[in-house]
Amino acid sequence: MTVNYMREMEKEIEDDRQKGVRRRLLMHACCAPCTSGCLSVVAPHFDVSLFFYNPNMDTGSEYDKRYEELVRFVKLLKESGEEGMEDVSVFQSGYDHGNWLSKVSGLENEPEGGKRCAACFRERLDRTFREAVERSFDCVTTTLTLSPRKNAQLINAIGEELSETYGIHWLPSDFKKKDGFLRSVRLSEKYGLYRQDYCGCEFSREGRLSGPGEQAG
Ligand code: SF4
Repeated sequence: MTVNYMREMEKEIEDDRQKGVRRRLLMHACCAPCTSGCLSVVAPHFDVSLFFYNPNMDTGSEYDKRYEELVRFVKLLKESGEEGMEDVSVFQSGYDHGNWLSKVSGLENEPEGGKRCAACFRERLDRTFREAVERSFDCVTTTLTLSPRKNAQLINAIGEELSETYGIHWLPSDFKKKDGFLRSVRLSEKYGLYRQDYCGCEFSREGRLSGPGEQAG
């Protein structure tokens, strides 16, 4: 059964509003363009911290470029005066591509969207949950569901499973809905954001299945 995870998130937001609750949300952020399409949905309702954990990047320079662009974007947002943006923070994990390669070992030749990507999602979300436990967040989500190329049903299923493991709530999402992806394209243009043309790993770069405008995975 296909679940409308955007609607599930909206129900939670409405529930919080009725209770007068504002939770601390740790949002895994893959890049500035995807984050742009997600923050306007959650920042008015949660205290949001962005966690840049993307060891899937094929090079350290690409990792640095995407992280620095995210930091620059958050700074611009804070200056914009938009609702909820003043308290958004961002931090990173450091780049450990060797460890990531070990997690996808044997899956190198999988097509984009296949088993390698499932392992990649799991690795990045698992680390995000661990950070959430250490820093006492109330809930976790990810910008990964913004991309039309990524399977939001799978990402949410992994999130729900990890939520059971770590005892931290998974905030369901499907940020591409309600023109989320289009919003990210427009915001990327507005803020002049770097929009990469491949998902992130060397296998996606070599495959170049995505055309210009693909956002990080
Ligand atoms: S294509 Fe993207 S989501 Fe899939 S393994 Fe590579 S970086 Fe991860």
